Amino acid sequence: MFNLDRLVRENIKKLTPYSSARDEFKGEASVFLDANENSYGSPLTKWYNRYPDPLQWEVKKKISTIKGVEAESILLGNGSDECIDLLIRAFCEPALDQVIICPPTYGMYEVYAHINNVAVKAVPLTPQFQIDLEALEDAITANTKLIFLCSPNNPTANSLAREDVELVLNNFDGLVVLDEAYINFSRQRSFVPELIEYPNLVVMQTFSKAWGLAALRLGMTFASKEIIQVLNKIKPPYNINQVTQELVLTALNNLEEVNSMIVEIVKEREQLAIDLKNLNFVLEVYPSDANFLLVKVQDARGVYNYLKEKGIVVRNRSNVILCEGCIRITIGTEAENKVLMNALKQYST
Ligand SMILES: *Cc1c(COP(=O)(O)O)cnc(C)c1O
Repeated sequence: MFNLDRLVRENIKKLTPYSSARDEFKGEASVFLDANENSYGSPLTKWYNRYPDPLQWEVKKKISTIKGVEAESILLGNGSDECIDLLIRAFCEPALDQVIICPPTYGMYEVYAHINNVAVKAVPLTPQFQIDLEALEDAITANTKLIFLCSPNNPTANSLAREDVELVLNNFDGLVVLDEAYINFSRQRSFVPELIEYPNLVVMQTFSKAWGLAALRLGMTFASKEIIQVLNKIKPPYNINQVTQELVLTALNNLEEVNSMIVEIVKEREQLAIDLKNLNFVLEVYPSDANFLLVKVQDARGVYNYLKEKGIVVRNRSNVILCEGCIRITIGTEAENKVLMNALKQYST
């Protein structure tokens, strides 16, 4: 049976969180002399002399209406990366607990586990890039607190089978962290509506990919209110700055524009996949539910270096498990994809 209390580290349970001036006084007032800000203003025209809302309620309310999740079930992080770090620090006892990752996958789960001195057990995906359910079951111990799953997965570009993710959710009594950074490009439905059914589900999304706001550093975590409360307790009080909060509110009012970019990117992805398959040194273009393609070529290092010479940078993934001979190509603009294809056509002749 799932028991959140059993998962939270003892020191976090006992922790008295920092109480900021903005936490202690909520309400209307005309004179704010409680936070040691500069009451005279700032060198900028905006009133950036004031600390921002520590819980970003305005942004969360807007996200809440778009995603159909209550604002209390949302945590915002300085990128998904901060969310990953908070999850590990809240639930994994250093030098005792472990997390499971399913490589090839996003590198930051492992990095943050190691920074926190938390053991990482790797259960590689199958050759079809799906969860190896038997190996996963064998890898789980009483100290396994988190399983990181990424769907659509980076760098393999595919979605994990929904039934497999459900099976893990139904049989694991730690937290299943599902990273949906690329969900907007996918044919699959998000697991966010499933939060009601699974108290052990944590879904992460980000403004860095489809939303086109990688520079703002804003990641979203969706989970039960109880899980979010634990994370709120340990996050830095003002982890999302005022400028980001304002800009993202503006962006959230431009959903149409984002959706039309997504349509365009998916269209370009399908065309690029067809074009790449026609090149004689391309061995495989893997199906993609993301804004990039994983491409197996005859000489990955050769292709990578050739493109670099031409001023085109792709990611060489040939040293990554199950991705031998592969490069990862982000979908560019129509013009950029043409430049790429022209260069690659010259490579093959
Ligand atoms: C790009 C990416 C992210 C985004 O991380 P941010 O810190 O939000 O920019 C998260 N997960 C995966 C798998 C990614 O590829």
